[in-house]
Amino acid sequence: MAAASPASIAIVGSGPSGFYAAEALLKSATAVRVDVIERLPCPFGLVRSGVAPDHAKLKNAIKVYEQIASHPQFSFLGNVRVGSDVSVEELREHYHAVVLCCGAESDRRLGIPGEELPGSYTATEFVGWYNGHPDYRDLSFDLSHETAVIIGQGNVAADVARILAKTEAELASTDIAAHALEVLATSRVREIHVIGRRGPAQAKFTSKELKEFAELADCAPWIDPSELELDPASAAEVADRSNPGGARNVEIFRAFATVRDPPKGRTCRFRFLRSPVELRGSDRLEAIVLERNRLEGEPFAQSARGTGSRETLDCDLLFRSIGYRGVPMPGVPFDERHGVFPNVAGRVVAAANEPPLPGLYTAGWIKRGPSGIIGTNRADAVETVECLLSDLPRLVSRSCAGGDALRALLGGRGVRVVDFDDWLRIDAEERRRGEAVGKPREKLTRIAEMLAVIA
Ligand code: NAP
Repeated sequence: MAAASPASIAIVGSGPSGFYAAEALLKSATAVRVDVIERLPCPFGLVRSGVAPDHAKLKNAIKVYEQIASHPQFSFLGNVRVGSDVSVEELREHYHAVVLCCGAESDRRLGIPGEELPGSYTATEFVGWYNGHPDYRDLSFDLSHETAVIIGQGNVAADVARILAKTEAELASTDIAAHALEVLATSRVREIHVIGRRGPAQAKFTSKELKEFAELADCAPWIDPSELELDPASAAEVADRSNPGGARNVEIFRAFATVRDPPKGRTCRFRFLRSPVELRGSDRLEAIVLERNRLEGEPFAQSARGTGSRETLDCDLLFRSIGYRGVPMPGVPFDERHGVFPNVAGRVVAAANEPPLPGLYTAGWIKRGPSGIIGTNRADAVETVECLLSDLPRLVSRSCAGGDALRALLGGRGVRVVDFDDWLRIDAEERRRGEAVGKPREKLTRIAEMLAVIA
């Protein structure tokens, strides 16, 4: 390849890690062309379809991504599914380097009897549904019962609980999908139990998200004060200056525990030191069996151990919110244990201690696992791109056909590639429909609807 030609880089996935990888490449001193390939016609990954509709400020990240997309050396290839429309091997032939930023699209499993009973859902399904993700558009959630249980005490569990707890009026002016608002508006859910396997000091909510439960129009947080007694190791964790979040959370829980006889229509009960051991029901969920736990281990390394003491809680609706998990991609090694592509600082390797696969990189949740906030993905992507740029002199010694040839290949296969201008037309249509009903946007929730806008 001529020295002056830019290197061709493909990024698979247009969520935060994909955009931050593109940003790091385009800001570098090296001449590059960056093609971001996305299976949906719409970009932005979990910022569009994961961030809760009532957390509009978090979606401001999109403004940064739009700025990145306006770079002349950036292209978006939406509606292209890697693995079926084009293989990873073909991408590696067409580009000098491929960066896999496809996130963690599945969920961890509880591995208990009854997990798949109707009425038991993953948080991913519910979040995708209320956020209008096409994959979850046609799911239905039966909210005609009083008691809902959420397993897990991370920020996704907080999102699920808050969406169940909010009134129609609280949600109506957000970008929540219309089909979800319609169902939530008739919800009969009154008792929401948010259950953690460890104690209040180990809950993974960020304090800002936790505090929101005291600000709901028709739902009060509720905690049995006896559940807030800390074992010595937890007391040490809370007293540790390096753990201000843990201390703040315990303080917030203590304030919640002063609420007696919740006056509001709905109650959100935070419960600790309980693990689900069985979901019961004849043809749908009727109850959950919980085992009481005690904590074992040193401060910051405490794990939950079952005590053998069990209790049964009647419930008709349950969400498993115990963390996301990456899914394998044909042609890429996969670490089954951690649900990630095995890698060293973002260079994909076949297995531990094996050399990197030339030109194959990864960033974001599929690289490190599902942790951190949106901004965490920036430093993560920068680390990967630094590796890529240092390998690039070797990678560009091979000539490759690049994005135009890929577009021709996809066209020949009948794939309607959606570029960023196409997306902006879909975006404008969503905003127009939203304006008519007092929302920032009314999301198009089917791929066919999105493609019809740009037909
Ligand atoms: P998470 O923060 O890792 O929380 C997972 C929860 O599930 C923990 O309470 C964990 O308990 C529990 N858990 C795991 N395995 C379990 C099991 N077998 N039985 C019972 N409980 C189990 O995951 P997440 O809530 O899915 O969030 C993913 C990431 O996205 C996090 O970094 C989160 O902060 C971020 N996020 C941020 C926002 C925001 O900023 N507003 C919103 C949503 C998500 P242990 O602690 O005992 O493992």
